[in-house]
Amino acid sequence: MEIPVHDLHRQYETIREEIDAALREVLENTSFVLGEPVESFEEAFATYCGTRHCLGVSSGTAALKLIYRALDLQPGDEVITTPFTFIGTVEPLLHMGVRPVFADIDPTTFNLDPDRVAERIGPDTRAIVAVDLYGQPADYERLGELADDHDLTLIEDAAQAHGARWEDRVAGSLGDVAAFSFYPSKNLGAYGDAGGITTSDSDLAERLRRLRDHGREGKYRHSVAGYNERLDGFQGAVLSVKLRHLDAWSEARREHAAFYDERLAGLPLEIPTVVPPAEHVYYQYVVRTEQRDALRDGLHERGVGAAVHYPRPVHLQPPLRELGYEKGDYPRAEAAAGEVLSLPVFAQLTREELDYVVEQLREVLSGIRGVEP
Ligand SMILES: *Cc1c(COP(=O)(O)O)cnc(C)c1O
Repeated sequence: MEIPVHDLHRQYETIREEIDAALREVLENTSFVLGEPVESFEEAFATYCGTRHCLGVSSGTAALKLIYRALDLQPGDEVITTPFTFIGTVEPLLHMGVRPVFADIDPTTFNLDPDRVAERIGPDTRAIVAVDLYGQPADYERLGELADDHDLTLIEDAAQAHGARWEDRVAGSLGDVAAFSFYPSKNLGAYGDAGGITTSDSDLAERLRRLRDHGREGKYRHSVAGYNERLDGFQGAVLSVKLRHLDAWSEARREHAAFYDERLAGLPLEIPTVVPPAEHVYYQYVVRTEQRDALRDGLHERGVGAAVHYPRPVHLQPPLRELGYEKGDYPRAEAAAGEVLSLPVFAQLTREELDYVVEQLREVLSGIRGVEP
């Protein structure tokens, strides 16, 4: 059996007619950039997230860039975030001369540890960026209090958490403003690069809208130097179709996760910890073991896709070298980077395939450690 980490073709087969019709409509209406297909999606996604506004943009990284710009962060300002994320969370700050200040993670959820965040707040701190890693919201109760107490903007990087919840609130509405990626393999994925921003702050939304489209006020009136980071009509149309299926796909991911939880209990590896009131959507189902590399290689030999998110924490990536971070600065993130492994958990997996993954995982582990299968 061959089981990939993602299978976008299998997903397409389940929605082929809806997608093909939606794409044909864009062709007929020639609404290729922004326009009706993007506006309909923005409206539907804002409603879904429970925010007043949603803006379709060209990628998740562009969403973060526009948010940092709209907050008018200046060189020398500091933004506190997690070192255990995709580099896109931090990259736009580097271009702006804004210093990313990292706070180590909670080793059970892999998300920002609010106690560590509190220790890093200083006179130059302007914002906190929480990442809902693997699909589980960070601790918005405590992070929200810290942001309020110190007058900081709380930004949510929800690129992995479409539809995740914190109590009765949905990802995208958990901070002051949120960035989404709709990269094809994300839980809500377009058919190319795409991203979104959600917020209920109408002034901020207006600034973001201008920055997304050349600082435009009228057709050829430009009030600020902006960017071209608009969402394409095709992507808006695809996203509207897929949004209708998102909850069912999330439910399937949660069922797969519950199956793994049950079948992997008792094996010498850690399974994911979900801390209520967070509700996980399992963008990744991540196990943890010191034998990670051997387990990954063994699974690959047996046809099971398994991936590492992420093998190197952001503070140790070469583009941050000048900032002076060193190995040992964030020991929990560094340890996690050496031990995490993501198993296939996409919605269309069959019970037979899940059984196969568990079976192979037991066999590989017993070969490594002499565990009874
Ligand atoms: C995917 C991702 C991004 C970047 O999104 P793109 O659409 O690839 O630019 C940012 N942050 C996190 C946590 C992500 O997973």
